[in-house]
Amino acid sequence: MSLFKNVTFHTTVASLNDLPTDSVCEIAFAGRSNAGKSSAINTLANHSRLAFVSKMPGRTQHLNYFRLDDGKYLVDLPGYGFAKAPAEIRAQWEGLLAPYLIHRSALAGLALIMDSRHPLTDLDRQMIDWFAQTGKPIHVLLSKADKLTRTEQAQVIRSVREGLATLSDRCSVQLFSSLKHTGVAEAEKVLGTWLGLDIGESEAAPAVVSGPPGKVARPRQRKVQGWAARSAGKEKAAAKNKKPPVA
Ligand code: GDP
Repeated sequence: MSLFKNVTFHTTVASLNDLPTDSVCEIAFAGRSNAGKSSAINTLANHSRLAFVSKMPGRTQHLNYFRLDDGKYLVDLPGYGFAKAPAEIRAQWEGLLAPYLIHRSALAGLALIMDSRHPLTDLDRQMIDWFAQTGKPIHVLLSKADKLTRTEQAQVIRSVREGLATLSDRCSVQLFSSLKHTGVAEAEKVLGTWLGLDIGESEAAPAVVSGPPGKVARPRQRKVQGWAARSAGKEKAAAKNKKPPVA
């Protein structure tokens, strides 16, 4: 049974002022356009059309919130790498995405969807390198794994794991297929743990972690921070040296 089966569309957010105030915990889903992000959210929610709400006109550039029980949310971020005017992309990042990802205290971690046939693109690397400054974990779903042979699957997971290790020690990675519904239990285990859901006795294999063996990428216990943290200095200084995936 799906852990996220009661997910419903909640709202589309175009401005930081409109972020849900009742969120106790949320996970953001990011990835290149066409990587399979909407399909992955639909598969996890066991709902064939849910995340396609995010593809409706007027919603593609915004944060789309899907609500679980008890003030917990899955947040669908705009896909990156799609041809748009650089000024438009920069405005979107500076106005909404960057401050959301850096300062949203309810954000437990990032689920990053990559097409398993073309993983760790430059934009994916930029995203990971940039998000790493938050100290929050990233779980990579290598989507469309059904398109790879077993040998190719083993190769891609090994090479992505090695690539991730050079970017962050807070990453985990797994294979995923929305078409075949594979990797669902493994993803639920990681994401459900981040959300503090009761995941029961899962038989799913643990996701492969990019750091030292035995290390599990979990959210760190952080002090609750409000928007005032924007000027707190430390994170801001770190942010200056990182480039978000805007071009
Ligand atoms: P998004 O732009 O990242 O939200 O990507 P979509 O979820 O819309 O998927 C893009 C395309 O990839 C669509 O044609 C999907 O049917 C296809 N796709 C997504 N996930 C899978 C998968 O697991 N296996 C296969 N074979 N195709 C997939």
